[in-house]
Amino acid sequence: MRKKLLLGNWKMNKTRPEAKEFAQGCGEMVEYAVKHGIDVGVAPTFVCLCPVIKHAPKELIVAAQNVNEHPSGAYTGEISIPMLQEIGVEWCILGHSERREYNGETSEACNLKIKALLAANMIPVYCCGESLATFEAGKTKEFVEEQIRTGLKDLTAEEAAKVVIAYEPIWAIGTGKSATKEIAEDTIGYIRSVLRDMFGEAAETIRILYGGSVKPNNIAEYMSQPDIDGALVGGASLTLDSYRGLIEGLVA
Ligand code: PEP
Repeated sequence: MRKKLLLGNWKMNKTRPEAKEFAQGCGEMVEYAVKHGIDVGVAPTFVCLCPVIKHAPKELIVAAQNVNEHPSGAYTGEISIPMLQEIGVEWCILGHSERREYNGETSEACNLKIKALLAANMIPVYCCGESLATFEAGKTKEFVEEQIRTGLKDLTAEEAAKVVIAYEPIWAIGTGKSATKEIAEDTIGYIRSVLRDMFGEAAETIRILYGGSVKPNNIAEYMSQPDIDGALVGGASLTLDSYRGLIEGLVA
């Protein structure tokens, strides 16, 4: 049985005081989620990681939005795994479509980061998803399969079991145009079949999230699908009210 997971991606939003306010206000809803056996977390900007860790309940998962695979050195503007670990961060998002588009992050680069994170006992959340053109050309599955096979290349089944996958069709991110639950389930079911081919039975334990305009009023639809294990949520994870709505939808 895979544990459900809600992860909020704050992207480049919130000042430190705003992040602190969220962290101080989320206690009850985190407790409610934990009581219902659900993992919940947020991915703040680097500068907001510390305030969230300091003021939120320890059960709230706190993820970075990126990391560099080298432990230290001449990599201006980068943050390393030991730096994240030193402040208590154990999770990290990788390969988000915005980073792929604006920062040239490739699946090969994600593969190096995923291996480095796993070697440090951290949990990678690896994002994949196709553009509107690829979707309309009917090539979603082959596109996403390539991202999965490259991003998770050379992992053992034991390592793969620790990874979380997020399927996020680019045309649904921040557009208000979410994929139907049938489309999401169809692609996520396919991703699981690829994982089965790569890692055997471990595929049954890998959590696969859907992301793309998930809101409090549609999250339950996705959760009713057998292969969808939770959601990676951008816009609707930013306010306490909306985040609470997402948790309630997940529990329903
Ligand atoms: C995201 O940033 O991962 C995302 C899915 O954004 P939104 O929920 O706003 O579409």
